[in-house]
This record gives sequence, structure tokens and C-alpha cells, in this order.
Amino acid sequence: MRSSSGCSGRRGFFARLIDPGPVLPKDGGIFCSVCGYCMPCPYGVDIPGIFSLYNDAVAGTDPSGRKFLKVYEEDIPYLKQANHCIECGICQSQCPMSVDIPKEMRRIDELVESLKVEELRK
Ligand code: SF4
Ligand code: SF4
Repeated sequence: MRSSSGCSGRRGFFARLIDPGPVLPKDGGIFCSVCGYCMPCPYGVDIPGIFSLYNDAVAGTDPSGRKFLKVYEEDIPYLKQANHCIECGICQSQCPMSVDIPKEMRRIDELVESLKVEELRK
């Protein structure tokens, strides 16, 4: 007798074939040297930590982003995650690499949220 979990597992498998869900972009990463000049963020965002994880992920072999999401949730405390960026721009002038920090934070937060949705669908 087949279990219902086996059926849902097959459904999930075929659903992913049709719609593989979000994948990490092949964008070469963010031009961040992890110097920390942008810190501290008055809203607690761990800017270099987040960029560093993101860069490791897009340079690695994790196209689904599943490992990135796991490491992001484990290594970046919730109050320091990208969703706490209010795009005040205070960090912007401190960055010697001219990274558009608020824009990148928004982009990473949107990616993280889409990866979470994808995890819930499984
Ligand atoms: S733009 Fe975002 S990351 Fe930069 S200082 Fe403001 S809240 Fe922090
Ligand atoms: S100042 Fe710029 S290069 Fe340095 S850690 Fe912050 S974002 Fe990265």
C-alpha cells in the first residue's frame, strides 16, 4: 500500500519539474571587499556578513539557493538580516567600492523571501 506522503512527494517532484522555483542569479556577486567601513548600520543590518554569504552562494554550486537559505538563517541573526534595511542610505557614502547597499539589500531580501516560499511549497 502506498503512503500519502509518497504521493505528495511525487506531486512535489513533478511540480518542481514544471516550475523549478527561484534560483540564485548568475550575477558574479556583489563587489564588496568585506572591509566593514559601512558599519555599524543604525538599524542593525550585518551588511558585510550578508554580502559575504551571498557572494559565496552565487560563486558556488547551489543553483537552487537551498543551502544559501539555510546558512543565511543560521549565520545571520534575524535582527541583522536584510529585511531590516529601511534604505536610509547612511551606509552608502562610506563604501569605497560604491556598492549600492540599499538596493542590494532589497534584492537579497526579495531572494530570501522567494526561497522561503519555495521551501513552504515542498
Ligand atoms: S541603507 Fe540599510 S543597510 Fe544601509 S545604513 Fe540604512 S538601514 Fe542600514
Ligand atoms: S563598505 Fe562596501 S565594500 Fe566595505 S563591507 Fe561595506 S558594502 Fe562591503
